[in-house]
Amino acid sequence: MIADGTAVVSRCVEQNPSCSLAVKFGSPLRLPPPPFPPMSSVVLNPQLATLPVYIPGKPIDEVAREHGLRPADIIKLASNENPLGPSPMALAAMADVLKNLHLYPDGNSFHLKRKLAAKLGVEPANLVLGSGSNEIIEFLGHALLGAGDEVLVSEHCFAVYPIVAALFGAKLVTVPAQGFHADIEGLLRAVTPRTKLLFLATPNNPTGTLTSREDLSRLLAEVPPHVLIALDEAYVEFLADPLDSIALVRSGVRPNLVLLRTFSKIFGLAGLRLGYGIGAPDMVAALEKVRQPFNINSIAQAGALAALDDTAHLDDTRANNRRGLDLLHSEFARLGLEFVESHANFVLVKVGDGARVFSELQKRGVITRPMGSYRLPGWIRISVGTPAENDRCLATLREVLGR
Ligand code: PMP
Repeated sequence: MIADGTAVVSRCVEQNPSCSLAVKFGSPLRLPPPPFPPMSSVVLNPQLATLPVYIPGKPIDEVAREHGLRPADIIKLASNENPLGPSPMALAAMADVLKNLHLYPDGNSFHLKRKLAAKLGVEPANLVLGSGSNEIIEFLGHALLGAGDEVLVSEHCFAVYPIVAALFGAKLVTVPAQGFHADIEGLLRAVTPRTKLLFLATPNNPTGTLTSREDLSRLLAEVPPHVLIALDEAYVEFLADPLDSIALVRSGVRPNLVLLRTFSKIFGLAGLRLGYGIGAPDMVAALEKVRQPFNINSIAQAGALAALDDTAHLDDTRANNRRGLDLLHSEFARLGLEFVESHANFVLVKVGDGARVFSELQKRGVITRPMGSYRLPGWIRISVGTPAENDRCLATLREVLGR
């Protein structure tokens, strides 16, 4: 790296003596060429060799470049984002903090934690903030996992759980799903003395399935205390009548429970990267220890503070989502496509060759998510869009499928 950078700087200085790079970097550092090919003796952590890779939804710009389309003509229904955009109140608040970006953010997110705690009816000591809830999942790995530990998940779980288990050298134990639903009985049976962490998302991504109240209550009551339950509620705000999981944290009856939430979905702030964990103070203190001091930037803190107050935006998003889900469900049924009834902001639908249909939709400017990496090669996942986006997606899907 240094040698390469030096070459660029010296070339620039030779060609143009007034090159500003020379002023910034001083005179070039001349290093002998390395006697070995770069990286040849570096030993990587062995788990990297087989680490699963997270494949994100394609950004609009990339698809535009690949297919010679105009970004404005592309719709992205690939990453379960909020199609109504960020809260206008959040946008205004974020613009207001730009002038202070020379200062480090509040490393403890004092105001955001206080407000969030008040909204949720918990104490700030019950909250840990992360760069997306993905980072909280990683904190759990840092705090709990080592070689030989077991991480318990249901088949078709969110892709980041297996990645984090592998990253920390833990063994992933996957319990087969029952008709796309987590098998709670099976999860309970799969607990061993080595089980450290159990991840369960409800609603789940990518299936959109909800774990029933009875099943969830049973799981929470029967999982032994040495297992930390990470209950991932990334989509909980879309539910009309969610289980009051926070009450379990508030009352202190489940010290081995951490709830995962995010500002990426209903709050429409996926680009800010902000999520949080809710748990017992002891557990939260452990997660705080593995957190980098300034992981939540000032823009994120300001945006989230304002978004929490924007109930109109949340209500609009929920209503748009309900209409969108109803439309997608009924159209898939009418087209004779198998789908999984969703409780989140996306629908998993069987289209035959998922990779082909994904690619044909994408060529036509509609980005969805192929499900091959979730071992569902016949399926794609479609996020709910605006009414116009949903109509365009369905029309394009009919065209591609010839129905
Ligand atoms: N959990 C689930 C179930 C998700 O679907 C997602 C986002 N795809 C996340 C966690 C992570 O969201 P973020 O890191 O954006 O908060």
